[in-house]
Amino acid sequence: MTTLADPVPGGRPGDVERATALAGELSGRGVHGIVLAYVDTAGVARIKTVPTAKLPAAAAWGVGMSPVFDTFLADDSVVTTDVLGSPDGDLRLFPDLDQLTVLAAQPGWAWAPVDRIGQDGAPHPGCSRTALRRITAAAARAHGLSFRAAIEIEWSLGLGSAPEGEFVPAASGPAYGAVRQVEVSEFLADLLAACHAQGVDVDQLHPEYARGQFEISAGALDPVAVADRSVLLKQTIRAVARRHGLRVSFAPAVLAEGVGNGGHVHLSAWRDGGNLHAGGARRHGMTDEAESFVAGLLGRLPALIAVTAPSPASRLRLRPSQWAGVFTAWGLETRECGLRVVAGTAGRRDQDANVEIKPVDLAANPYLALGCLIAAGLDGIGSGAVLPEEVTGDPAFLPEEEADRRGVRRLPESLTEAVEAFRADGVLREALGPVLADAVIAVREGEAAAVAGMDDARIAAAYRWRY
Ligand code: GLU
Ligand code: MG
Repeated sequence: MTTLADPVPGGRPGDVERATALAGELSGRGVHGIVLAYVDTAGVARIKTVPTAKLPAAAAWGVGMSPVFDTFLADDSVVTTDVLGSPDGDLRLFPDLDQLTVLAAQPGWAWAPVDRIGQDGAPHPGCSRTALRRITAAAARAHGLSFRAAIEIEWSLGLGSAPEGEFVPAASGPAYGAVRQVEVSEFLADLLAACHAQGVDVDQLHPEYARGQFEISAGALDPVAVADRSVLLKQTIRAVARRHGLRVSFAPAVLAEGVGNGGHVHLSAWRDGGNLHAGGARRHGMTDEAESFVAGLLGRLPALIAVTAPSPASRLRLRPSQWAGVFTAWGLETRECGLRVVAGTAGRRDQDANVEIKPVDLAANPYLALGCLIAAGLDGIGSGAVLPEEVTGDPAFLPEEEADRRGVRRLPESLTEAVEAFRADGVLREALGPVLADAVIAVREGEAAAVAGMDDARIAAAYRWRY
């Protein structure tokens, strides 16, 4: 579970004592420093570190960092909104001690995600982790709902010895092939060991479709914890790879052509310990509320991709017939619709059933992505949104007339189009609050301008090693 309380100057109740005990224990285990991590609006993890002895001080008073990173682009240039992007001001980063993890592949280091508050002690309105905590807490209060989520992590594994900036696959075996598992056997075993040591409940690890591509998936958690875990997993995969002379890209498209790296999100809504996506009277076991939740997601997909697929490189991945789910359609266990309804395996549907959102990649800030997905689903429930007819097969091959009749449309093909849909979406903007919503718009517009005139190969190269 995640700490749900906002940080306060002086520390959350009990945190300083806990941090003092932890610092002693960590020092005894050879941990010299703590990485304090958050994800900026562009999707880049930004950090500060403190020596282990300073953990109690960080728990009490936070660690300083400028708010300017909220409007950083992935290339480290800065845009502005009316309140963000200025050189003025400072924030305090407070570690969530519940999520503090000793990094198995980085001896001497531990890691913790942070919430950010202003120097005045008020929550920072640009803090995406705080926003997601707020959204989940409000759903519990107003609707008695909680959520379980998982984020699949795909990456391209490259040789560390490749020429600067280039991607040379570290494995050449076939998709899902045994050859590939043997080629990088030591790396994969060390990755599983690191995950185990860090308490990450891995479900599966496998070679994926694209050249040198792999995927790891882990069990569902509450949304904030799962967003934290995805940040931790990216750090861990990268660190294990480095120890093997390998390099990892989580970019949506490591190369301009071919299947990209996804970050599919699985999401389910729960009430009183019961999964709304199972045991209901509607399609595939969904309850009325689950159908409306899925309909809420479906109706907002064009705006949602401004946060779930936020990079100029995301559009290189979002192509039909590449399993990225680029159509406003849903279906049972289908891989080309934007939404895949997972009914689960007979005997454990009450645990497993969920909806998978496909047009999500790992350039996304996971806190923003989950916050907006939950807000969209909740609005569907609140408005009694009706889920249309399901689609089977690849929507790319639906005759045009039938696609029109059924409301099956290709998702926005440019970042500019996606950000326009987001700008027009009052529900998503309100869920994030004006400061964060304006940051999303400014950063996406900045990213679009940064790649104006670039061809696909240059775009892929520009973002290959950024996320
Ligand atoms: N790599 C695909 C994507 O970009 C997903 C493949 C799969 O279905 O797992 O989303
Ligand atoms: Mg996959």
